[in-house]
Amino acid sequence: MHTTITPAGVTDAGHVRPVNQDCFGADDDLFVVADGMGDQGRGETASRLATAALRASFAADPTATGLIRAVSAANTAVWERAQSEPQLAGMGTTIAAVARVGDDGDRLVVVNVGDSRVYLFRDGRLTRLSADHSLVADLVRSGEISEAEATDHPERHRLTHAVGVGPHVAPHVSHTMATPSDRLLLCSDGLFNEITPEEITEVLAIEAATDAAADRLVTLANANGGSDNITAVVLDVT
Ligand code: MG
Repeated sequence: MHTTITPAGVTDAGHVRPVNQDCFGADDDLFVVADGMGDQGRGETASRLATAALRASFAADPTATGLIRAVSAANTAVWERAQSEPQLAGMGTTIAAVARVGDDGDRLVVVNVGDSRVYLFRDGRLTRLSADHSLVADLVRSGEISEAEATDHPERHRLTHAVGVGPHVAPHVSHTMATPSDRLLLCSDGLFNEITPEEITEVLAIEAATDAAADRLVTLANANGGSDNITAVVLDVT
């Protein structure tokens, strides 16, 4: 089987933040969302540097191990720049990425660092392929708070791992086989903190075109407050 992926991405500053520190990338076989952290231009610099380094590194070695190495390359790019330019010290970013690997391109590798997410919508059900590196995710895993409580927890932006804040990084990794009629969603926390998994499921079920689905998700997040930058990348497998 040889599947095809059609991507569409939307990113928006939201209603509260003065600048958009999120960014996304879509190549033939690599799709990425990054949510930068740090004021005075640092967040935008981190997310863009990491995305560019990830894409360049994966293009040179488009394999599963190449993707893991590409996350390290992204980390190094941000970390070394922060070390060499004092005004960029402390910047960091999340990364969530999906890559097609293997001879037939049907194997999907998913990596994430931080709290940007990758969802799989298959057979009408939404599941998560990424695992958040955040304080609230740890609290949910230990049973101290519910998934719903996490979305408006005062410390919901605190990450336990991020790209570029130290010399090394270890991404969460998962795999799935691309199956025709699958949909994947890559998104920043500005999306899933504003809309529920049920709303995401409904949009992915109803909006036939990838660009309409991505648009509707971002519009809904803005309608619910838009308190953070919002990014949605929808991938259709055919
Ligand atoms: Mg965010």
